Amino acid sequence: MLQQIADELIKTSSYINGRWCDMPAKFAVVNPANQQLLAQVSDAGAAEAEQAVQAASTAFAGWAALPAAKRSELLQRWYQLVLQHQDELARLLTLEQGKPLSEAKGEIAYGASYLQWFAEEAKRLYGDTIPAPANDKRIIVQRQPVGVVTAITPWNFPNAMIARKAAAALAAGCSFVVKPAQQTPLSALALAELADQAGIPPGVFNVVVGSDAKAIGAVLTQHPLVAKFSFTGSTAVGKQLLKQCADGVKRVTMELGGNAPFIVFDDADLDAAIQGLLASKFRNAGQTCVCANRILVQRGVYQAFADKLAIAITQLKVGDGLNGDSQIGPLIDANALEKVSNLVQSAVADGARLLLGGKADSAGKQFYQPTLLCDVRADMAISRAEIFGPVAPLMMFDTEQDAIALANSTEYGLAAYFYSRDIGRVFRVAQQLQFGMVGINEGIISNAAAPFGGVKQSGFGREGSQYGLDDYTELKYLCLGGL
Ligand code: ADP
Repeated sequence: MLQQIADELIKTSSYINGRWCDMPAKFAVVNPANQQLLAQVSDAGAAEAEQAVQAASTAFAGWAALPAAKRSELLQRWYQLVLQHQDELARLLTLEQGKPLSEAKGEIAYGASYLQWFAEEAKRLYGDTIPAPANDKRIIVQRQPVGVVTAITPWNFPNAMIARKAAAALAAGCSFVVKPAQQTPLSALALAELADQAGIPPGVFNVVVGSDAKAIGAVLTQHPLVAKFSFTGSTAVGKQLLKQCADGVKRVTMELGGNAPFIVFDDADLDAAIQGLLASKFRNAGQTCVCANRILVQRGVYQAFADKLAIAITQLKVGDGLNGDSQIGPLIDANALEKVSNLVQSAVADGARLLLGGKADSAGKQFYQPTLLCDVRADMAISRAEIFGPVAPLMMFDTEQDAIALANSTEYGLAAYFYSRDIGRVFRVAQQLQFGMVGINEGIISNAAAPFGGVKQSGFGREGSQYGLDDYTELKYLCLGGL
């Protein structure tokens, strides 16, 4: 299965200080589409995490001292190499993660776009001069890299979640250590190989792969040489890691869970809303933190919307992501399937109507049928949990204020979406939604030029955009006196 991928991109051990660290203990990486073994990967732990942090700390001074144009050039080269290998990286990603190959290609391009974006932003790390209160003084503000950055990333975007963080960190002049999810180490290691080929100096970008997330996480959040920790994953784990960072007063970025409302008002373009919903809900088989999680539809268009959606969902093709026409791949593991299945069953037991799907798909052990539920209520478990599966739960509402109140009635605040053609409503609703990102007549909102991040318990910090360097730099104020 890995045959169509060049050997140089198939790495099976941690990349620390520019070296591959083979170890006797291994953990298995399996294809979620068929449970076949893909690779045995060297199982690094706390000791290797410690080495990586040390290496990053040693490399930091030299990297930070490089002219911004030089860091930019190296990031550009990395970007180009990733794009050159887009097809192979996408195949590797689909094999270990399961998403359809076309989506995997999209993710590689999306991840690469952050390398390109921050290669450009690296050159624009501007400071300020501020009018001083007296003529014999000057106030100068500079931005300096925070230092060693560590990160832990999830399996749902095995390439892009690393690229998005590493690109900003390296552009700012920080060195970087990442622990990818145990399920998807191969994409992370392939990215390291290309960083190496691009000429990123040893110790500047390190990848520690291992099965003991807790042990590695303890080092990455608590080591005295770590200045900043960046996490993308579940809110429960994020809270734990945030506590671990507190003792050392580490700078922290948290991209946590979401519970995105997708609101369809009476005046919406229903066909556009269906297209937006399919993209937002079913991408990656529903396993993204910005996936539509609660679909709120106004009474006047509720039935028409449900009918159209049912037709669209029936046409979705379930299957192994490597099959050219598959649109819905497997869920990441057996636990994920069980969780989704339980949520649907409990919704039905609580009175929701099952219009389509509702059980495992015959495509394989970890596939779940695209599912449509109607008459879901806010008090059901499925409305409160992050579903992370191809399940669309529809809820009815009457007024604009009802929709806003329902949408905001969650502890999460990552993405929200709504469809309306009334310009007044567009501004009113956008203003009142308590979410970090709002898609208006749009189901796909993430790109390198825009700030990605959440409010409330979805976390803090922003990735991408002109603001993306802020999390990786400190302001330093210089006061020149006696002039
Ligand atoms: P998901 O539901 O996406 O798997 P998790 O929060 O469980 O979300 O996982 C995201 C990342 O956090 C993964 O890399 C995982 O290995 C890591 N992780 C999970 N638990 C811990 C922990 N206790 N300490 C450190 N890292 C953890």
